[in-house]
This record gives sequence, structure tokens and C-alpha cells, in this order.
Amino acid sequence: MKEKLLKHTGKTMLSLGLVVMLLVTTLTGCSKNTTNTTAQPSPVPTQSPASSSDEVTFTAGTYSATVTGMHEMTVTVTLSETEILDIQIEHQETPGVGEPATKSIPAEILETQGLGVDLVSGATLSSNAIIKGVTDCLKQAGVSEDGINKLLAISKVVEIAEDELLTADVVVIGAGGAGMAAAVTANQAGKTVIVIEKASKMGGNTILSGGALNAVDEGSETALANKDSVENHYNQTFNGGDQAGDPVLVHKLVDNAWAGVEWLKSLGMEFYDGVFTVTGGMWPRAHKPVEPEGTGFFKTYQNYLDTHDGITMVYNTAAKDFIIEDNVVTGITCTGETGNTVTVKANNGVVLATGGFGRNVEMRMKYNEVNKKWPTLDESIPSTNTSGITGDGIIMAEAIGANLVQMENIQLLPLGDPETGSLSGNIEHAVESRIFINLEGNRFVNEGGRRDDMTLALFEQPETKMYIVMDSDTYPEGNEKNNFGESIADLVAAGRALKADSLEELATLMNVPAENLIASVEDYNRYCQGGDLEGQTDSFGRTLFTDTDGVNNGINDAPYYAAVRVPTVHHTMGGVQINEHAQVIDTNGNVISGLFAAGEVTGGIHGTNRLGGNALTDTVTFGRIAGTSASEFVRK
Ligand code: ADP
Repeated sequence: MKEKLLKHTGKTMLSLGLVVMLLVTTLTGCSKNTTNTTAQPSPVPTQSPASSSDEVTFTAGTYSATVTGMHEMTVTVTLSETEILDIQIEHQETPGVGEPATKSIPAEILETQGLGVDLVSGATLSSNAIIKGVTDCLKQAGVSEDGINKLLAISKVVEIAEDELLTADVVVIGAGGAGMAAAVTANQAGKTVIVIEKASKMGGNTILSGGALNAVDEGSETALANKDSVENHYNQTFNGGDQAGDPVLVHKLVDNAWAGVEWLKSLGMEFYDGVFTVTGGMWPRAHKPVEPEGTGFFKTYQNYLDTHDGITMVYNTAAKDFIIEDNVVTGITCTGETGNTVTVKANNGVVLATGGFGRNVEMRMKYNEVNKKWPTLDESIPSTNTSGITGDGIIMAEAIGANLVQMENIQLLPLGDPETGSLSGNIEHAVESRIFINLEGNRFVNEGGRRDDMTLALFEQPETKMYIVMDSDTYPEGNEKNNFGESIADLVAAGRALKADSLEELATLMNVPAENLIASVEDYNRYCQGGDLEGQTDSFGRTLFTDTDGVNNGINDAPYYAAVRVPTVHHTMGGVQINEHAQVIDTNGNVISGLFAAGEVTGGIHGTNRLGGNALTDTVTFGRIAGTSASEFVRK
């Protein structure tokens, strides 16, 4: 076994000395963002293909297909009779989210001349869309289903690399929001850190979020203007989760929330001034990063890595088991990129930050059985989560006796893309200025209420579908971006959002009865600024009508917008029990020495229903606490 003692290098370790042998004999190459993957000289073959592309022929030419990843993209493939010569992808995938796939997937297809490419973890939507686009182009070029299957069978063969032993002061598992907050905090405390991440990049679910981060700057003008306080944040968090959260942890969360924002700002992260109400957030206290989605967090953390020594990122490596010596967690064993074993030892503590289990259908079905809150959580229900969020850390921790708490508390949002379940294409900006309309053209719930109430109500609606409806107050110029970095004009052009000059026309596009839509909007407008019921609670119990700028005068300024949405699994509130120092607690109520946890992998903070905007607060607050505790941990 090769042994490596990590110094303050600050370098990114991407590859563990892997050797790649190609299965195929030919290779060529192939981008608004355009990814250019241009033709390369063919490599010397190292092995005969089991089933090679030379059995599949094409009608030479250039073909295009339009597909949807996180966003719409156009894939253009150029073929000779025997080779895939070039793949161009015109896309708007977000840097650090779907964008990496627009480079690596075409490169691998060209390299192997096959379609059996590895999906880019954390970018599976984009990866699959590109493969679909290339497949469509090949079909246009006359390739039969049989031919496509042959090409799908062609993939890289990877030789297993040597096993490795890595050591650092603090070991962090998972490079999402909580893991990176812990890693940076530990490093600021003077520790060397290794971050083990099973995906090929940092970000996890956090980077896919809308970026809303709840925090109250007690006594500030903003907080005073919104009649908000840390105590109000506490009460809404605790009561919003039916008082099932641990009061000590809830206090930690809200009491340290603003300090977390200041810490992020000290690292260079930028936020817009003011606050807004995120869906299910119940109150205007969400801070919005300047960068789209959750990308601002990771731009900030990456910048820290680039300017400081001592944090080593190990990607494509999945933690499997904890190492326990004398009842202390001293490290982890992992499976490396090539299937080799990577052993990682900690001089101080280990931080578990692997996120929840929203993409583990078996687990979410099993735990939904406990209280049967949701009609079903089988594979028919999509998820906003990235593919690697499969409960690994929860399973690992349970195996060493960690206490799992409130696993049945699973959060769904009523805001999923009908194709993918992702939050992309969600056109709302703030709660106050939009309504939800079912396929009968009617409102059906308090759209300013709890996430679980809204989603349960959506399950009761025809086809379990609804439209988000708003007017030009949200998009005055018609080309502004939503919270996910997508311009409303592009969403309309792609058919993912509907735009109309009148409510009648919008109803036609939505295929709902116009009289119902108009009556629903008129009723809502009565409660907005200037309406005859302004300031009152409507028949659904809604109180949030006027945003902090006081500009929402209802849905009455053309053009009008709508976008269809479905229920989607978003956050798992159950997980590993921790105390206020982020120490993991075992089933006997004792601390598991050496092990700390933060973020969605933990349970018992949010109770039955997490307040919108509190997940990012959780990652920063408890990530920092875990980073500090793990740094201070000394083996006796
Ligand atoms: P949180 O919001 O709690 O930080 P995220 O979903 O943002 O959670 O991040 C969790 C990260 O942990 C993801 O990047 C995911 O790929 C990673 N991860 C999950 N399981 C493992 C594992 N077994 N080994 C290493 N990393 C993992």
C-alpha cells in the first residue's frame, strides 16, 4: 500500500494514477455556450473491441437534436460513414452544475466511439440529455435500435489503481454545503483537511438549490422593517416542524445564522441587499446570493481552496465504512475512482456531511411507511436531488451504532419540473407575487404556507399537477432571470413557461377554463395592495400578499406567465442524531468519539417540516460547528 502524508498543499487530487485502456479502435473528436469537442487523431488501439462501432455504419452528414438537461440544449453530431467525427453542444447549463457534462460526455463518446459512457455524477440530467441527443442524431443517420444497442455496449475499460493511504488532521466526507463549510472552518483553525467526495465535483444538492438562506440580522433596518427577530425565526422553525425539532439544535441554527452569512461574506461571497420570502419560508428573511442557484457558495469555497494551502479534495471516491480504533472513529475506507481501496486517516476528527437520502427510493419508501405521510414515494415521484444523494452516510453511521432520528420526516415540494423533478424552470421569485392554479383553473391552497401542506394539497389535485401563475411585476422587462439563472424569455421560447397578453389567452395556453382562472386571480387581487380586502387573510389562510417593497398590487399587469409543476422529493429531515457540538450520538445516548456530522445527513433539527431557506442555514451553521469540533478533537 502506498502511503501519503498530506502536507499543506491545497492541491486538487483528481486522479489516483489510473490507466485507461480503450475498447475500441478508432477515436475522433467533437459546443449561448458552445462546448467544442473537436476531432483528435485516432489513438493506437490497446485492445480489440468486444463489439465495436465498425459494425455500425452511418449516413455521413451533420445532424441536430434538441434535448432538455437542466435546461434546453442542442446537440449537433457530424458523422462519416464509419466514425463519429464531431459533437457540438449549444447549452445554458450552469457552470459547476450541468456544464461539466457538456465537455466530458462528448469527449468520451468520441474517444470510445460508443454510447456506454459514464454519467457525470452530480450532472446526470445533463449527461443523459447529451447521450439522448447524440442517440437521436445517430438514429437520424440511419442507425437501427440494434445498432444503438451495440454502441451502448461500448465503454471504457479502466485498470484498477493501487490502494492508497491518506492522512490529514480532519477528514470530511461529502463536498456539499455542510462539508465545505466544515473543511474551510477546520482549515481556518490551522488543520490539514482531506475532503472525500463521490461525485466528480463539489456541490451536492446545495448547488442545485435556489440559494435562499434564512438569517436574521437582529435589530437591523431590514429585520425591523419586516418585524422579524431571531426569536421569530426560532418560533417559525420550531412550530413549522410541529415542535418535533430539538429545541437546543433549533436555537443553535437560528442564533448562529447571521454569523454564518457574515462568515460567508468574509470569504468573499456576495448577497443582494434585503430579504425575500422563499416558498415555505413563511416570512421574508431569506438572503439571496448574487450568483445563481447555490453556485455562489461553491465559487466562494473554491476561491478559498485556490488561495489557501491545506485542503485536499479527493473526487470520484466514495466513503464506505468507518475505521474504529479503541472506540474512536479514526478514519474511513473508501472506494476510489478505479475500484481501488482508499483509506483515509484523521489525526483529529471525522466529519460526516454526505447529505440525505432523497434519491434512495427504497429508503424513502421504507421510512414513509412509518407515518404514511405521502400517498407514495416510489419511483413515480421525482426528486430535486442530485443522483448521489442516496443516504450513504446514514447507512454507514447506523452500522457503527449511531442513533437515527425522525427518518420518516421527508419533505416534498410542489415545485418540480414535470419531466425531471428538478427545480429548474420554476418561474417564481418570491411567495407574495404568485399563485398556484390547478388544471381546473382554481386556486387550492395557501401558497404562503408550509411546504408539506402545499404539496399534500397538490396530491389531491387533478393529475397531481398545477401551474404557478404571476404577472409582469416579476419579469418587468421580459428577459429577467428566475432564481435558477434561467431567463423567462428562454423558458417561454423552450415551451417550459407560458406567456400571454391576457388571462383569457393564458387560460387557453394552460388548457384550463378561463372563467375559473379569471375568478381565481380577481379573488386573490382583492387581498393585495389596493384591493378591498388588503391586509386580511384569505379563504385559504394566506397572509403573504405584499412583498417587502410593497409593490405587489396583484396579478393584473400583462404579460402574464405560467409554468406547470409537480410534487418532488426535496429534503430528508431525518438522519444521524447530533448534539449542539455536532457530535454524533449513539443509540445509547452516548457520544461516538471522533465522529461529527452536519447538514442533511443529520436529523432532528427541522422536525416534521423544514422551513424553506433553512437548509442552507443548516449547512453553514452546523458545517462550521462540525469543522470546529473536529479540529478540537484530540484522541485520549
Ligand atoms: P448538505 O446540504 O448536507 O451539505 P449536499 O447534498 O449538498 O448535502 O452534499 C452532500 C455531498 O456528499 C454530495 O456532494 C454527495 O455527492 C456526497 N456524498 C454522498 N455520499 C457520499 C459518499 N459515500 N462518499 C463521499 N461523498 C458522498
